[in-house]
Amino acid sequence: MNNQEGKQKLKLKPEIQLLIDLQELDVKLRNLKTEINSLPAKLTEIATSLEEQREQVLSLKHKYEETLKERRHKEMDLKEAEEKKRKFLSQQVDVRTNEEMHALQHEIALVEQQIDKLEDKILQLLDEEELLNKKIQEQKEKVKLAEEKAEAESRAIKEKIEKLKHHYNTLNKKRDELIARIPDELKDFYETFHERYLGELVVPVVNGSCGGCFMQLLPQRLVQVHLAQEIVFCDRCHRLLAYDADYTPESNTTDNDSDKPSR
Ligand SMILES: [Zn+2]
Repeated sequence: MNNQEGKQKLKLKPEIQLLIDLQELDVKLRNLKTEINSLPAKLTEIATSLEEQREQVLSLKHKYEETLKERRHKEMDLKEAEEKKRKFLSQQVDVRTNEEMHALQHEIALVEQQIDKLEDKILQLLDEEELLNKKIQEQKEKVKLAEEKAEAESRAIKEKIEKLKHHYNTLNKKRDELIARIPDELKDFYETFHERYLGELVVPVVNGSCGGCFMQLLPQRLVQVHLAQEIVFCDRCHRLLAYDADYTPESNTTDNDSDKPSR
């Protein structure tokens, strides 16, 4: 709402000033409520992001386990292949024909190839394990830092929520005190309509028009607002016309428009 400073010469019925104060208070209360309601989502966001970081550790650990399992299998295969090779080598003494010898040597060559392949694969898996282990440690560090950060941020947000709630309650008490001082008729009017007009139920007259719907006011209404002896409502939108933002009593000799650009 408009600041009243510099407008001390305005004639304002005290109950209208109370309504203006109430309206300002309601805007603050509404903004506080919006802010308070928006904060839990931030807490969820922090928790979700942390959970994602933790899941990455689990996923890396899972990959590590899989690699380890594969290596164990390959090591078993290698043992078998070496066993096979030993068996073939021992059979060499019993070979009688060149043909048999040739076949046996072929088997030995095949199994040696298999052994080479398995050894390469095992070395490759060992490298992968080492790399995964390093990644796991790094990710664990990241999680640790993220946990510290998340804890600090969550704490700050929770403190902010508490602070805002406290502020809200204080203002709400003020509202109760304020509203108790407002005559019933005006109070009913305000409570019925203020949600609809969101901080603009009690409006000034601006350029001779209603500050809410901008309809040009009848001269008679303007005079009523200037005299400030009764409560005046806009004929169109029924907002309460609190005062004339452009009007100062001493300039109102006979012609209120003398110091204003003509329209
Ligand atoms: Zn209006």
